[in-house]
Amino acid sequence: MISKVLIIEDSPLVMKIIRHVARSELKDLDPIYAHTLKEAQAIYNTHKDSIYAALADLTLPDAANGEVVDYLLENNVPTIVLTASVDDTKRETLLNKGVVDYVIKESRFSYSYAIGLLNRLYRNQNIKVLVAEDSLPQRNFIIQRLTEHQFQTISASNGVEALKQLNENPDIKLLITDYNMPEMDGFELVKTIRHSIGKNDLIIIGLSVQELDKGSLSAKFIKNGANDFLSKPFNHEEFNCRIKHNIESLELLEATLYQANNDFLTGLPNRRCFFNAGEIAHKEASKNKTPLSAAVLDLDWFKSVNDDHGHDAGDKVLQFFSVQIKGFFADYITTLGRTGGEEFCILLPGLNSYEAGEFIDEFRQDVINQVIYINEGTELKITFSCGVSDDPCDSLDHQIAKADENLYRAKDEGRNRVVY
Ligand code: GH3
Ligand code: MG
Ligand code: MG
Ligand code: MG
Repeated sequence: MISKVLIIEDSPLVMKIIRHVARSELKDLDPIYAHTLKEAQAIYNTHKDSIYAALADLTLPDAANGEVVDYLLENNVPTIVLTASVDDTKRETLLNKGVVDYVIKESRFSYSYAIGLLNRLYRNQNIKVLVAEDSLPQRNFIIQRLTEHQFQTISASNGVEALKQLNENPDIKLLITDYNMPEMDGFELVKTIRHSIGKNDLIIIGLSVQELDKGSLSAKFIKNGANDFLSKPFNHEEFNCRIKHNIESLELLEATLYQANNDFLTGLPNRRCFFNAGEIAHKEASKNKTPLSAAVLDLDWFKSVNDDHGHDAGDKVLQFFSVQIKGFFADYITTLGRTGGEEFCILLPGLNSYEAGEFIDEFRQDVINQVIYINEGTELKITFSCGVSDDPCDSLDHQIAKADENLYRAKDEGRNRVVY
């Protein structure tokens, strides 16, 4: 079931813009639209279980004083408020009630921001945040803000506890840590963590008290390895913006790294990534004197797929083959990659060349029996040739070159075979 977002707005013009923006920018959520409180309640009652969040106008014909927001919050629906204007009192009231954020109806950009926030909320549910803070009221304040934003939260009341939680939950993405804590303070905590976890794998935001600070505490946090800091006391918005900004930077970096390491067409590790990982496996095997087989697989007569059916068909075949290769070797610890146009490499640790050759031959038989549907009316079958070597030589490069020699033999001997 696709999660839904309930969008409530009475102005036809505003609704028209929101619909337009949602169509192109809302990612994982399906919008349902309502124009009055009554309509919103009816929709909520039918779709209770699938509504993930709401975007709600503060003034509706049948609810002039923000009653819709109270209704949504009472039902625990994360809510972003749309409003024509906001003053300090209104802002405080809204944020204290527990709305996620408010958006002033000014321009198309405002609606884009709101839709972006909905996407953000949906992704936050997969992000684990650890809060290390000894003051219970402050910890609760932070946990509550994070919960409103749909993050998964874990608490610790000192540095030692925080380390323990990090150990038990290696998938924590963000740590918010106070400076002054018993047992182990924030600096020690950050320094200890940074021995083993880099800035790109865990965001750390340090909290520092302004009166004591005089600038040095925040700088020290950063110098010890924190990504950012926040001066206490902070309000909802400062906190939310800082968290959002850091999470977005991390995601951008992860996306960039993914693009640098993975092939665009198939999503498989690219040549550079294969060799980086492969060299580690190669060294490990040499050190432990355990066998390691390298295999080069190359599709047969692939150029003719392009020539006969077009380049897009060729792309589909490459994608199909990548899914097959990933699936077949999924249960086996391998290093694999798309190392050239229609050439793929696999490392099989623990197998000598005979065992690896037999294993890949099973894959070969699996592949030749499959039909690829290119488009209506076009079905294709493919074969590949493969060369294997378990001679570690003096480097992975040279071992792959040996496997490549066997690949040439496989091609010469008639293709659709594994030579080892
Ligand atoms: P052989 O059996 O000797 O390997 O013959 P082949 O046709 O498979 O080998 P050849 O090296 O002559 O041709 C490989 C072709 O793969 C040529 C190139 O245009 C095509 N190719 C490489 N990368 C891609 C790609 O990303 N998409 C598509 N569609 N084709 C690609
Ligand atoms: Mg209105
Ligand atoms: Mg080929
Ligand atoms: Mg080739």
